[in-house]
Amino acid sequence: MFSSKLKEALLCLRAGRVTLPYPFVPQAPPEGFRGKPEIDGELCVGCGTCAMVCPPRLITLADEGEYRVLTVDYTRCTYCARCEEVCPEGAIKMSNNFETATNQKDDLLLQVKMKLARCSRCNRPFATQRLVKKMAQKTIGDQGSGDTVPAWVSWCPDCRQKYEARILGRLGDVEDD
Ligand code: SF4
Ligand code: SF4
Repeated sequence: MFSSKLKEALLCLRAGRVTLPYPFVPQAPPEGFRGKPEIDGELCVGCGTCAMVCPPRLITLADEGEYRVLTVDYTRCTYCARCEEVCPEGAIKMSNNFETATNQKDDLLLQVKMKLARCSRCNRPFATQRLVKKMAQKTIGDQGSGDTVPAWVSWCPDCRQKYEARILGRLGDVEDD
């Protein structure tokens, strides 16, 4: 019994110190480590795809006056990277930053404000200006139609629906564009 305990103690002593001096000495995470997602506010168009897939629902979008505000509450982030996978603009990149401890909760909040575009038929704000611009660029690309952007690109979903309904003969009282 005593000898086995002695052997055990010798084994531990031979191993030397195995703990790391972190946080007194900075420690780089291992290769492939997935840390905090970083959002590039210049690339974001406010489409909301990341908010739809985020499991803890910590990404939200809300319209405030003339702006759509994307808010990220990092306190509940699980670093799952779903947001990075789905962002159509490549605006989200997973970093290797794991040091998020703070005594100021606001340090873990990120907000991106984007100006809203108004519907050219009913004048209601309906999408960010960046998103409408992207749609216009994509439509021109898809149709190969030179510089002509179709009018419906600047219509809100309600106005598009009414227009289509009128075209299909289901609604007679919608004015022509
Ligand atoms: S998916 Fe990308 S572009 Fe869309 S709101 Fe999220 S960060 Fe912005
Ligand atoms: S990494 Fe996962 S939990 Fe964190 S913001 Fe992205 S989707 Fe949400």
